[in-house]
Amino acid sequence: MPGCLFCNIVAGKTPAEIVHDSEHVLAFKDIRPAAPVHALVIPKVHIPGIHEATPEHAAALGQVLLAARDVAEKLGLAKGGYRLVVNQGADAGQSVFHLHCHVLGGRPMAWPPG
Ligand code: AMP
Ligand code: ZN
Repeated sequence: MPGCLFCNIVAGKTPAEIVHDSEHVLAFKDIRPAAPVHALVIPKVHIPGIHEATPEHAAALGQVLLAARDVAEKLGLAKGGYRLVVNQGADAGQSVFHLHCHVLGGRPMAWPPG
């Protein structure tokens, strides 16, 4: 989608610290980490958010979750645990409208989230 930051990262037009790259999924370090380990896992196809996902996106969504698991393993979070977050819309504070799953870890996570 023209003008989409994460589509531009997929296209290699905007630099990112890539931690996973497979046919349908890309993952990279968050530019403003909210935890000692913070990566974003995205489908390469442009989906604005989880609320815009349709049954045709089921495979891509599954691949995002499985990639998040692999990224957590690769970044050393398997033993201590980690949190996966998908923000949707204004109340959740979504700021980039290309679906992404945050992988957060390296410290204990509070509950309920802020
Ligand atoms: P959200 O608020 O859930 O939409 O998350 C968007 C995330 O994208 C935030 O955590 C930002 O720090 C992160 N972000 C914004 N621009 C970039 C970028 N160029 N590279 C990596 N992460 C980014
Ligand atoms: Zn996009």
